[in-house]
Amino acid sequence: MRFCDIVRLYEKKCEAADVPAETVLAFLVELTNQERYSLYLHYEDEMPEDLQKTFEEGMKRILNQEPMAHVLGYSWFYGYKFIVNPGVLIPRPETEELCAGILARIDRHFPKGPVSCVDIGTGSGAIAITVSKEEPRVVMDATDISESALETAVKNAEVNEADIHFLSGDMLEPLKKAGKKYDVLISNPPYIPEHEVMETSVVDFEPHVALFGGEDGLKFYRMIFHDCREVLKEKAFMAFEMGWNQREAMSRLVEEILPEMKYEIAADMNGKDRMLYVYRGMEKELE
Ligand code: SAM
Ligand code: GLN
Repeated sequence: MRFCDIVRLYEKKCEAADVPAETVLAFLVELTNQERYSLYLHYEDEMPEDLQKTFEEGMKRILNQEPMAHVLGYSWFYGYKFIVNPGVLIPRPETEELCAGILARIDRHFPKGPVSCVDIGTGSGAIAITVSKEEPRVVMDATDISESALETAVKNAEVNEADIHFLSGDMLEPLKKAGKKYDVLISNPPYIPEHEVMETSVVDFEPHVALFGGEDGLKFYRMIFHDCREVLKEKAFMAFEMGWNQREAMSRLVEEILPEMKYEIAADMNGKDRMLYVYRGMEKELE
């Protein structure tokens, strides 16, 4: 079969299976890039047999709602390639905006010298590795409670040549135990309320330890807010990803637990509240 015919055929199958039709081209672009084969030059040609076999086997899993990143075994984030598997959350595009926001605030608030950072619940290592690659002054620690996530994060740090110190444990416990203090604390904790109904591709294939944040989704923010003074320097900021509908609850939580700190909630490119920045001993406004 020709590339163009097979694409059309599978786009129809996707529609019938309630999978976004764009997945077909996205998947094929990845497979042909791996073979250094230009899809655009060959679009009207016959698809080589072995490629067609790999493509159809992969599409079978994708049509069954399995994430494309699991079929490929990797995912792209901020231009870096990350190994992913069922033990880690597939890094999301919204989280790239959190990384950009962190880098801008490091420039503004810590313009010179080393900057000590920690990423809590690092998963694939996407945030920790990206921030440390993009800002060489950063000295990065990263934690997770999941040993299988940590294994993948260690591999990702190796392949991306990032120098990260990994710690295992529950939220801030390993940092408190080690007596560590940071300029920047980062976390994209699990924030989905326990009983929320979710897409099959997420709830059946991604680790629940990475998704659910207790009854109201805010359990892990509460834990971090309560303990953060112990691990932050006097002048420091924290950066979090949050759920698009958590603005009010989150504001209340910060004001109640961290009344001496300033904070701001920023929207992502879809206009949804997505990032929370909390400042200790410094002003919040960016120039
Ligand atoms: N940072 C990654 C990212 O942004 O793609 C993964 C974020 S995922 C939403 C949350 C991560 O927190 C998961 O890797 C999960 O294993 C970890 N986690 C869950 N409970 C934890 C706990 N009590 N202490 C530390 N990490 C935890
Ligand atoms: N954004 C992810 C999702 O909707 C959840 C990430 C998280 O809980 N931190 O599946």
